[in-house]
Amino acid sequence: MIFLDAAATTPVRREVLEAMWPYLSGEFGNPSSHHSLGEAAATALAGARSAVAKVFNCRAGEVTFTSGGTEADNLAVKGIALARQAADPSLNRVVISAVEHPAVEESARYLERIHGFAVDVLPVDAHGLVSVEGLRSLLTAETALVSIMYANNEIGTVQPVAALAAVAREQGVPFHTDAVQAAGWLPVDVKALGVDALSISGHKLGAPKGSGVLFTKGRLRVEPLVHGGGQERGKRSGTENVAGAVALSTALTLSHAEQAVLSARVSELRETFIGSVLSEVPGAILTGDRSQRLPSVASFCFPGTSGESVLLELERLGVVCSSGSACAAGSDAPSPVLLALGIAPETAQTAVRFSFASTVTDAELEQAAAAVKTAVGRVRNLASPQPN
Ligand code: PLP
Repeated sequence: MIFLDAAATTPVRREVLEAMWPYLSGEFGNPSSHHSLGEAAATALAGARSAVAKVFNCRAGEVTFTSGGTEADNLAVKGIALARQAADPSLNRVVISAVEHPAVEESARYLERIHGFAVDVLPVDAHGLVSVEGLRSLLTAETALVSIMYANNEIGTVQPVAALAAVAREQGVPFHTDAVQAAGWLPVDVKALGVDALSISGHKLGAPKGSGVLFTKGRLRVEPLVHGGGQERGKRSGTENVAGAVALSTALTLSHAEQAVLSARVSELRETFIGSVLSEVPGAILTGDRSQRLPSVASFCFPGTSGESVLLELERLGVVCSSGSACAAGSDAPSPVLLALGIAPETAQTAVRFSFASTVTDAELEQAAAAVKTAVGRVRNLASPQPN
């Protein structure tokens, strides 16, 4: 099987399993316990926090461990907006882009539904890019927060986060970015990006599902969503997932060390793959920006097919990929991300996303490109049977 669905999830790396194993077995303590087992767990958690902070170029106290990317996004969007509104009730608007992951979009809609916020949606161009000037024109004296993703999970488009964050900063508005897809492929130095909050998820990086991190800058107030014993400096109560934190910090450290070389190598393979598909598959349309895109994502529409049928054919041919994001898979509705790009619903339904793991090879992608040609051809033949 050729696995081209790494944006959905990745297997746990051996080094990560080995690093977390002690905290699932002999060193199983609760970090809040005042005995040696507890202290060992607390030390491991502190080590994991420092390791994440090193990659983010921030202080350890600015790192909050969560149950994943979704929770980190929820905590950022709801937690920051609600804390700001509590301090100043006139702050009742949030800005998000038109292509956010549901973890951000639905958090903003919750603020709208339950807390009376207005949600200002920053449109994207045909390639999925927002405009910096567009953001400037949406900011008002009532804007509590801006949340714009670093890289899109369906089309791989990478936003100009540093420039966007600078505009928000000029207006004194905190800026959050969902870096779940970017981490491991693009730098996540929060100072260089100039962001106030940034979310990542462990399972996209070779750590287990159910581990995530939210960075929040300095004294930026965050209203907790999970109340209890006050762990994670009161931002996220609940006994900490020590093994998960160790796993995530190990995966992040490893991928950070490999990032520059890996991204260059995989970008090159991606370009060859995109070139092959566009030249071999008649009518294939690349979605997302041609150059401002994740090294690991190649996404297309194949008019005259259905994305789900192409997926099934590809799986028969030994290639596993996705018809969009994992969250939207199985749903008949065309992807809101593709609709936001101005793609017609009937074309959006023909979307297929190929996303590469760090281990992807040239030979695999060559085989996959040939399989795409065969699969699309078969689906089109089935859709328009020849008269006999
Ligand atoms: N944000 C983006 C851009 C994602 O792609 C995902 C997962 O696919 C998430 C957030 C949610 O992360 P998690 O699966 O860890 O909850």
